[in-house]
Amino acid sequence: MKLVFLGPPGAGKGTQAAKICEKLSIPHISTGDMLRSAIANGTPTGLKAKAFVESGGLVPDEVLIEMVSERLSNADCANGYLLDGFPRTVHQAEALNQISAPDLVIDVEVADEKLLSRLTGRRVCKSCANTFHVSKLENDKVCPDCGGELYQRKDDSPETITNRLNVYHSQTAPLIDFYSGLGTLRTVDGDAEPDKVTNAILQALGC
Ligand code: ADP
Ligand code: ZN
Repeated sequence: MKLVFLGPPGAGKGTQAAKICEKLSIPHISTGDMLRSAIANGTPTGLKAKAFVESGGLVPDEVLIEMVSERLSNADCANGYLLDGFPRTVHQAEALNQISAPDLVIDVEVADEKLLSRLTGRRVCKSCANTFHVSKLENDKVCPDCGGELYQRKDDSPETITNRLNVYHSQTAPLIDFYSGLGTLRTVDGDAEPDKVTNAILQALGC
């Protein structure tokens, strides 16, 4: 199955994607994770992307389309994929349709007011990449799952978050109409307990 997760930053796409991918045995392709690792390793893509990612803007379409197209040609995508964070513009969506069109697009919806506190309180594990909210942590430095070190993403600062939400509404939200027009859009309420959201997604996928 070829899937795309759509939705604003902080909607829980990454958390849900990990669960769904395990269940369906398809690779979880997070363009945000790929870019952060490219930046950390100083690759040519990383150098091109750094300033955009740190300011909360979008990395140019050509950079993303090349990166994703290469990734989708890997053998592990033979049975499908789950794209998390791509496409983020209509141009990227049109390119994806040419490369390997998604069967279904899941829009995980959460209101802006909730997103701000989710993102400012988000902590990420350096070892296992799981994310947590500070309000649910006894120790905000140590991962409760694996004992790894927790950190706060540089772009999870209030100013950058505001920018990311604006970019989402102007550039990415139009994809809701784009996929709705193609008949592949399914909407899920992301403002519920994580397990309930997972079940709603599985139901939308007919699993
Ligand atoms: P979020 O929590 O905002 O969904 P991601 O980890 O998906 O965060 O992405 C982090 C940043 O990486 C984005 O703010 C953007 O700068 C860059 N990025 C990720 N995917 C794309 C894309 N498809 N097109 C352009 N930029 C992207
Ligand atoms: Zn961990």
